[in-house]
Amino acid sequence: MENENTSRNFIEMIIDKDLQEGTYDAVCTRFPPEPNGYLHIGHAKSILLNYGLAQEYHGKFNMRFDDTNPTKEKTEFVESIKEDIQWLGADWEDRLYFASDYFPRMYDAAVRLIKKGKAYVCDLTADQIREYRGTLTEPGKESPYRNRSVEENLALFEQMRDGVYGDGEKVLRAKIDMASPNMNMRDPVIYRIAHMNHHRTGDTWCIYPMYDFAHPLEDAFEGVTHSICTLEFEDHRPLYDWVVHEVDLFEKPPKQIEFAKLYLTNVVTGKRYIKKLVEDGIVDGWDDPRLVSIAALRRRGFTPESIRMFVDLVGVSKANSSVDYAMLEYCIREDLKLKAPRMMAVLDPIRHVIDNYPEGQTEMLPVANNAENPELGTREVPFSRELYIEREDFMVEPPKKYKRLYPGAEVRLMNAYFVTAVSWEADDDGTVRTVHCTYDPATRGGNAPDGRKVKGTIHWVNAGTAVPVKARLYENIVDEEKGVYNKEDGSLNLNPDSLKECEAYVEPMLAEAKAYDRFQFVRNGFFCADVRDSAPGAPVFNRIVSLKSSFKLPM
Ligand code: ATP
Ligand code: MG
Repeated sequence: MENENTSRNFIEMIIDKDLQEGTYDAVCTRFPPEPNGYLHIGHAKSILLNYGLAQEYHGKFNMRFDDTNPTKEKTEFVESIKEDIQWLGADWEDRLYFASDYFPRMYDAAVRLIKKGKAYVCDLTADQIREYRGTLTEPGKESPYRNRSVEENLALFEQMRDGVYGDGEKVLRAKIDMASPNMNMRDPVIYRIAHMNHHRTGDTWCIYPMYDFAHPLEDAFEGVTHSICTLEFEDHRPLYDWVVHEVDLFEKPPKQIEFAKLYLTNVVTGKRYIKKLVEDGIVDGWDDPRLVSIAALRRRGFTPESIRMFVDLVGVSKANSSVDYAMLEYCIREDLKLKAPRMMAVLDPIRHVIDNYPEGQTEMLPVANNAENPELGTREVPFSRELYIEREDFMVEPPKKYKRLYPGAEVRLMNAYFVTAVSWEADDDGTVRTVHCTYDPATRGGNAPDGRKVKGTIHWVNAGTAVPVKARLYENIVDEEKGVYNKEDGSLNLNPDSLKECEAYVEPMLAEAKAYDRFQFVRNGFFCADVRDSAPGAPVFNRIVSLKSSFKLPM
């Protein structure tokens, strides 16, 4: 086994033992989403965990759509889920399965249970079943239909399948123990009638297996060994084991292992909330860059590597906890730090005129594409008398410790020259339009031959060749001060400033940016060309993350 010396998580320890003891000969895991929505960052944890274990143990990884509930499932989601998993790099090779393909085998498994006297057709209504079920402190009551004969059950179940009954008229239940302290074991329903069109099997079936019956069978049919799911299924494990053992078709039945879900603090992942944000037009779809669906993270500019790093940092545990979004930001910064070219872009421009620079002259200044990574090479950036700088980099009356430009101050124009502000032009309301400076030609490249220092370095874009582009800056879609949910009505507390669009000026070569191209805009953060709103020659940039971080990696 790989990683023998590093610390092993509790799932690896279970698998190690299973292989040592011969419980299984090889490992097979799976990711089993229900195609009823888009995947989010929490699912990424499950995907990468399952795929990672299969890789680590040289085993198999199955991609299975758990499509046994026709009410909510759609082919649209099947496609988006496949795309997301591929993007994350989890490769199922030719192991793509649909639970609906097993409907005939599940039916046969149910018949086996009936024949063993382990399942019966029950005519109680849903309400009655609930009533008969008892409570955590009181045992349940047996259904009056519990002791139907095998023959009668077989005939009724066949009639259920043949469409003789309407929805809810009858169900098939496992015959286990109405007094079990585990409510899931009190004769759970394993088949229900639903006259519905299924996204793959159409009208072939009007009875559908319940999750707790279907899921263990799906795993077992595929030869899955370790069925990894989240903690809320812990109480269902006895039923999982009951099903795979009582159906009695599997030599080495799978085992279920639960781990804690991944929650992000102050982040919305719930399907119904996102659905409402989409419907209300507050976000522009499930992949709006302010959301944390995998599609949204991808569109915003996160890389699969950054998500893998994040999931690794979070680790696997048995205790629910919530992780700060800042950790995800840390991961993308780490990933892009050396990979992304560093370009100059001015998000909130004012004109900057160098009074003593020759009119009509343009020079090309050599600039490293990434000062920390020489492999990215260099480029030439045009420079002339008129530039744009950031509005916040000039102040008429600066506070103490202000290190940027103000009348009389000298700063470095990044990669270019030292300049000193001499005057400015402003509107009647004081809004600065233009700053006039003089430059020192001896400081080309950003250093003075006499060794004199400046306190600040600011970025700029050459006005004559600047390309105007749209840049989007994001904040959390919910108001972190107020908390995610409104205490009165449970709705979301929205942050009205979650999206800010600006008309930025960028270096000319950024006009050619293609969807998903990522850059650092120096001092402003990491940006990614939007896949949906960019047009040829006119990219729209999403800020993935700013450069400032308060996040400290836990030691
Ligand atoms: P729902 O059941 O409400 O439709 P779901 O998020 O549970 O939504 P599934 O399609 O059932 O969606 O989930 C697929 C897999 O992803 C399951 O194995 C589930 O345990 C896992 N999963 C879901 N949410 C998280 C999470 N927040 N963290 C880790 N794993 C998760
Ligand atoms: Mg689920």
